[in-house]
Amino acid sequence: MHSFRYVDGSLKCEGVDLTSVAESVGTPAYVYSAETIRGNYRRLDAALAPLSDRMICYAMKANSNLSVLNLLVKEGAGFDIVSGGELYRVLRAGGRADRCTFAGVGKTAEEIDYALRQGIYSFNVESEEELERINEVAGRAGLVAPIAIRVNPDVDAPTHKYISTGKSKNKFGIGLDRAASVYARAASLPHLRIKGLQTHIGSQILKAPPFAEAITKLTPLVLELKSAYGLEFFSIGGGVGIVYHDSLESGDPAWWDSGSGERLTPEAYAAEVVEPLKVLGLRILFEPGRFIVGNAGVLLSTVLYRKSTPTKNFVVVDAGMNDLIRPALYEGHHEIEPLVQPTSATLEKVDVVGPVCESGDFFAQDREVPVLSPGDRIALMSAGAYGFVMSSTYNARPLLPEVLVEGDKATVVRERQTWDDLIRGEKIPD
Ligand SMILES: *Cc1c(COP(=O)(O)O)cnc(C)c1O
Repeated sequence: MHSFRYVDGSLKCEGVDLTSVAESVGTPAYVYSAETIRGNYRRLDAALAPLSDRMICYAMKANSNLSVLNLLVKEGAGFDIVSGGELYRVLRAGGRADRCTFAGVGKTAEEIDYALRQGIYSFNVESEEELERINEVAGRAGLVAPIAIRVNPDVDAPTHKYISTGKSKNKFGIGLDRAASVYARAASLPHLRIKGLQTHIGSQILKAPPFAEAITKLTPLVLELKSAYGLEFFSIGGGVGIVYHDSLESGDPAWWDSGSGERLTPEAYAAEVVEPLKVLGLRILFEPGRFIVGNAGVLLSTVLYRKSTPTKNFVVVDAGMNDLIRPALYEGHHEIEPLVQPTSATLEKVDVVGPVCESGDFFAQDREVPVLSPGDRIALMSAGAYGFVMSSTYNARPLLPEVLVEGDKATVVRERQTWDDLIRGEKIPD
């Protein structure tokens, strides 16, 4: 559910008319709804309330704007981080290191040292070599590193191949067959403290059973480790998917109850995972990223040109794949909604493309959309997760501004980059 809807013919985010945002900050621009982010967090937390000892660690790689992090700090969230830079962001947003778990297959010694000195909750370790490295760094710092091992349950969760992580062919985690011996090794290292077990089966998963299957497969190991080493937590990771199609309808609570479309509600997710998780008798961590912010953001863009070839009609817009790479990278779908509600129901089949010099620079291919003319403004819906954070300055295009809406108020929470920003730090040799 989310807070984007047409009111009197204008697309609004909460109480703010998106056309007025486009006029004041220009396009392209990202806009986020504070109410939606908070609502998603609270709804998930409420669904998981039967687990009295739980911690929701927002996977901030999905959207790491300081204002978004600060909003979640105020809700009581922890954070799942994947780099030293992300920890720095959490601290600058007012968050606490001791509510951060540090994931990722390639942590550097510098990042490990920084996270350790800041006092993070746990390192989620992805390989035996990483375990040795953390032990070394902790030894040098005279500290003990809290660790969990990421175990790959070899569960097939249906999603795009680039965002599936829980199969043995993926680069993530340690195989279930080897996990016990890696824990034994961890227990023998003097500068480590075993604190938990972590798993994450993938992203944009719209069915609950694979999560339960992962828990069930890991339960014997978790119980064994609990009695051997006194585990404190189990993390089931993130991965709860969102609705990308029907994105305006999906803002309406009634639509969620109507049973139409493929969706995974927090309640359906909780119904499947709470019982198997309770059995573990541990603190349970959740690491949702996309679920919290995905439907809470849109990318505003303006139509520049129309162009036809003998086989295609193109609509060229001012946002590009450097601003939102999901369609090019994962065949991601974003609904396209004009900021001024069309008065005619006529649709035409077009490709909506950006200005970047790549054939992969498209937002829609052969899609029926309302008739769009130069100057019309559109919203690419559900762009709050893996949107701005994955953007680049490819083609020397400055990074976009980000706007946070709260009720009737819109705040620019990140300025648009300038051309001077683009060349900052560069130099021509003497
Ligand atoms: C990416 C990631 C997440 C978040 O995934 P979503 O699909 O955005 O919920 C959680 N945990 C880990 C370890 C991740 O790598």
